Amino acid sequence: MTEKPKNNAPPAPFFFRDILGQERVLGHLRAARNADRLAHAYIFLGPEGVGKESVARALAAALNCTQPLPEWDACGTCPSCKRMAAGTHADFQVLRPTSEGRQPQIKIEQIREFRRLTAYPPMEGGWRVALIKPAETMNAAAANALLKTLEEPPARHLLILAAASETELFPTIVSRCQKFLFAPLPAVLVIQELQARRGLSREDAVFLSALSGGSLGRALALNPQEMAEQRRRVLDDLEKLGQGSPAAVVPWARGLAKNNQELDNFILLAQMWYRDLLLLNCGAAGRLLAHQDCLQELEQDQKRGGPKTWFAGFAALAAAHRQLQANLNPELTLDILGFRLQRQGFVHESR
Ligand SMILES: [Zn+2]
Repeated sequence: MTEKPKNNAPPAPFFFRDILGQERVLGHLRAARNADRLAHAYIFLGPEGVGKESVARALAAALNCTQPLPEWDACGTCPSCKRMAAGTHADFQVLRPTSEGRQPQIKIEQIREFRRLTAYPPMEGGWRVALIKPAETMNAAAANALLKTLEEPPARHLLILAAASETELFPTIVSRCQKFLFAPLPAVLVIQELQARRGLSREDAVFLSALSGGSLGRALALNPQEMAEQRRRVLDDLEKLGQGSPAAVVPWARGLAKNNQELDNFILLAQMWYRDLLLLNCGAAGRLLAHQDCLQELEQDQKRGGPKTWFAGFAALAAAHRQLQANLNPELTLDILGFRLQRQGFVHESR
């Protein structure tokens, strides 16, 4: 049941001192521990890649460390910490969806197996900590089985449910856990980490940070060259839509609707482009722009359009984004988006 590191990759960090941001969450946890009032179950809510799993690991490590630091953090050298570092601690486990594909699920068998363990005290004498991630992938049977543990929490057991939001969790589960909201990370932190860990130029780090929405996990997964190529395609598409005939809209929509990731990136990159144009127009400093590496191109576009066009373009993209999230037909949504962007003539209204 212990988690082995995959592909020899180092396990996620497990020190509170290495957690980026999330000071409020850490402050609450430390205060609860100092008052001996840790809850038996927490829900960590927030976007992917902002530290929910790292905090769960740090909590498990600190609870089980035999020589914790005075400010309450794991020491990193005791036998328990060494097992955490190796990913072989018997009392820390991560329950993830077992089935891949369109609808990954955490199944009742996984929860039952965990419940069987809870009949016995933690194997290493400290706390047994289980992270369930993403908690919204528990099917109804699994959630019901977990409810029994939440209703009669065993001693020295801690359950952590990580989820993007509570809307897809069962209210009976949510009501029995203490909630913590994980905020997106400040851009300055994401930029720093991208430069330190990936050796990126500041311009590339700023670009990826802006696209990540404050998720370091997402920022680290993005490739600056690939995203710059996608941006090139987005700008070309916007230009063609602005100049082309209405007949160009439908094939464009059909092509883009085929690839969800490309579609999400199109909307995000185009929105950020309009945002940068608006910022430039207000005389904002260049360091505030997401597309700092395209300053010349932004300045050219700025001369050819105006705030009215950019606001309208941004609004059209935001509306399309909402409709796609509500599962409206992507081709239809993109047809409408294409016509709206075309009406606006994108940034080239004076051509
Ligand atoms: Zn230790």
